[in-house]
Amino acid sequence: MSTIVYFDALGEAPGAAQRELIAAGLGLGDATVVLGTAPSAAAVSALGALGVARVLAPASDASTSLALAQADALLAAVRELGPRAVLSTATPRETEVLARAAALSESGIITGATALGEDLRVTKSVLAGSGRSQAQATTPTVFITLKSGAQAPAAAPAPAEAQLSSIEVPARSGAVITSRTQRARGGRPEVADASVVVSGGRGTDGDFAAVETLADALGAAVGASRVAADAGWVGHELQVGQTGKTVSPQLYVAAGISGAVQHLAGMRTSGTIVAVNTDEDAPIFEIADLGIVGRLEDVLPQAAAEIERRRA
Ligand SMILES: Cc1cc2nc3c(=O)[nH]c(=O)nc-3n(C[C@H](O)[C@H](O)[C@H](O)COP(=O)(O)OP(=O)(O)OC[C@H]3O[C@@H](n4cnc5c(N)ncnc54)[C@H](O)[C@@H]3O)c2cc1C
Repeated sequence: MSTIVYFDALGEAPGAAQRELIAAGLGLGDATVVLGTAPSAAAVSALGALGVARVLAPASDASTSLALAQADALLAAVRELGPRAVLSTATPRETEVLARAAALSESGIITGATALGEDLRVTKSVLAGSGRSQAQATTPTVFITLKSGAQAPAAAPAPAEAQLSSIEVPARSGAVITSRTQRARGGRPEVADASVVVSGGRGTDGDFAAVETLADALGAAVGASRVAADAGWVGHELQVGQTGKTVSPQLYVAAGISGAVQHLAGMRTSGTIVAVNTDEDAPIFEIADLGIVGRLEDVLPQAAAEIERRRA
């Protein structure tokens, strides 16, 4: 099956969600990676190492820094390659680009899928994670955005020599981005990409030390409830939930988080959910696989110390 895997931009080391999507595209058959901005030579060879043989991108990103122009670039690639499926991650930006390209090519689009079948039938989590639906687009080309963690890890394909070709993008007038600054990243994984997330809520009372200690022992990302982010205890980029990041890690630890429906909407599909809360009636225990009634400042450091002890 001919497939396009689309990314807005690609760094020298593709992130976990991007690697997962590339593996899904290659698993469906003949996959071409299409980028919305010009990649570095190192990014192209990183794609080759992941088994990608063909990469299409605009020659320069000067005119393609907005979603409008990136949708033009994707549309040009779709018209050239005529793929059966166009896959991307479920970030707001990539969803916007795919939605524009799908509309302009009169194709069906399904966003935020939590699983993808070989026949392009997708599963979605609906009603704030309390149900699941299945959907299948009926147009010749199908656009699908997938949440990270949606695909089981695939066997690594054989490395390839990735060939980069340019897409001709029509010039557009309008606004352009004049500069970009990369946000400084700490040593921990990004919350949306991580296979383990430890999140803190109001129960931390603003002190995330215990949450960070356990996250570091597990090699996990730190997440947070909206209350914690709104209070300024952590940055909003760590917020998990309906108005934050949607995550689906193998392990999600919720510490001092009550389990409001808006928080559950962002983490309910996690593989194993562990909750630590002083209130035995907290709603988070209804969806937790393992519930610990206790103070997070007691429980998390003990868990971290035990993990470190066993590792040593
Ligand atoms: C439109 C809308 C969108 C929203 N989007 C989001 C979203 O994206 N993400 C999100 O998280 N929320 C969101 N919310 C807010 C949501 O409704 C809740 O208010 C929020 O999730 C509660 O955060 P919390 O669990 O940290 O705080 P609380 O509900 O106050 O819970 C704190 C918990 O900590 C426990 N606790 C207290 N002390 C300790 C301790 N020492 N050790 C262990 N446990 C302790 C308490 O028993 C309690 O269960 C949204 C709300 C609205 C209206």
